[in-house]
Amino acid sequence: LEPKEEFEHSSLAVDVMRPRRSDPALAVLTQDGMTVGEVETLVETTHYSGFPVVISQESQRLVGFVFRRDLLISIDNARKRQEGVVSASKVVFTDHASSQPPDAPPPLRLRGIMDLSPFTVTDLTPMDITVDIFRKLGLRQCLVTHNGRLLGIITKKDILKHMAQMANRDPDSILFN
Ligand code: ADP
Repeated sequence: LEPKEEFEHSSLAVDVMRPRRSDPALAVLTQDGMTVGEVETLVETTHYSGFPVVISQESQRLVGFVFRRDLLISIDNARKRQEGVVSASKVVFTDHASSQPPDAPPPLRLRGIMDLSPFTVTDLTPMDITVDIFRKLGLRQCLVTHNGRLLGIITKKDILKHMAQMANRDPDSILFN
């Protein structure tokens, strides 16, 4: 995001974030409600660089953010080395594992790879402020919330595309790095 290029439109975070109304829902992980197999399916059927972690699908309360590559590496390592980690193992991002049935396979604890304080803005934050934060903090993505509930995500590319659209240029003709 070039500092020279001023962002002078009155767009809000909610106008730039994904998913758009017609898109599939935001792909999230829950902090202790998914199995290794379910996480693998989510990662393999989407191409996103990262996934917000929420308390539960119902609450959509943000807990953290994990990168796709860290998830893949950790699951792969665990399957190779960690005794007993199988597709049915629970993936746990919480501090303390919730009680499990005695015959359940050992959980895969992944709190260590989660960013516990991902940057967030609220849905009505003006985009000039969000762009400023991206520049100053060198962000690649930022999450969008409303009343504490996770609504969406904005990546650096989303901002560049939005800027290009605002400037009435063809977004696909712009080379992103
Ligand atoms: P980039 O924007 O750099 O290509 P991604 O591959 O992570 O980064 O994201 C591709 C698109 O999908 C972006 O428009 C982004 O807003 C959106 N996106 C990113 N992560 C998620 C997610 N977990 N669920 C739904 N959409 C996402």
